[in-house]
Amino acid sequence: MPNLTFKSLEKFPELIAGMTTRLGGVSEGIFESNNMGILASEPDDKAIVNMRAMIRALPVRPWKVAVTRQVHGTRYAALGKEPPESTFEPDFSVFPETDILMTNEPGVLLITFYGDCVPILVYDPQHKAVGLCHSGWKGTSLRAAEALVKGMIKEYGSRPEALNAVVMPAAGVCCYEVGFDVSSLFEAYPEHLVPFANKHKIDLKGINAEILTSCGIPAEAIEVSPLCTLCDDRFFSNRRDGGHTGRMAAFACLKEHNEVIV
Ligand SMILES: [Zn+2]
Repeated sequence: MPNLTFKSLEKFPELIAGMTTRLGGVSEGIFESNNMGILASEPDDKAIVNMRAMIRALPVRPWKVAVTRQVHGTRYAALGKEPPESTFEPDFSVFPETDILMTNEPGVLLITFYGDCVPILVYDPQHKAVGLCHSGWKGTSLRAAEALVKGMIKEYGSRPEALNAVVMPAAGVCCYEVGFDVSSLFEAYPEHLVPFANKHKIDLKGINAEILTSCGIPAEAIEVSPLCTLCDDRFFSNRRDGGHTGRMAAFACLKEHNEVIV
């Protein structure tokens, strides 16, 4: 199953992270075929089959899977050590009203869900801590990426200048048209707004990269994916598919240094 991985993270073998696409999986119809939306309002009982297959294929064996019931907010959950309840199948924990997850515990798999919104990963190689943030236009206007960085500073003592970040595939400026109600929230970022037929196209990935830079993460430590979920049909797109579609997952899990998966 072809998960997307990111070049700037290759130098961190202790971090397993990426994003699923709609390729692979067993879902049918509007969810064809690798739908990860296990918490979405529309039912697709094959989504959990897809997710379990994705987890089994990872080069790490998580004992805990943390998933978010997202609300376009800035609340985070930090996952620490607790005894595994099962060594056979990982234990799933659902975090309500949460858009940001973080952990410094090996074997905790963080998962957030996407259908055009921006997935952001921040990694602290000094403290071996990782976070994921779901940031659509609303989360971006609330500076959710900053809430992630501030959370990692508070929880792990992270130093922004030592952090690495990835802004993963999302609705791109090539396609993402918004009305004045949304574009007016981003007047502080004129270089990321492109006038278009009485509206604007907006570069949400670029704005999030700028928010990460304003937090102190060096620009050269931020990888921004050029891929757009609206015009690249390897992705589900909520906007393109009229709100009835599947979800991709962004994922991150730390490995023990001595962990060998055969
Ligand atoms: Zn596009």
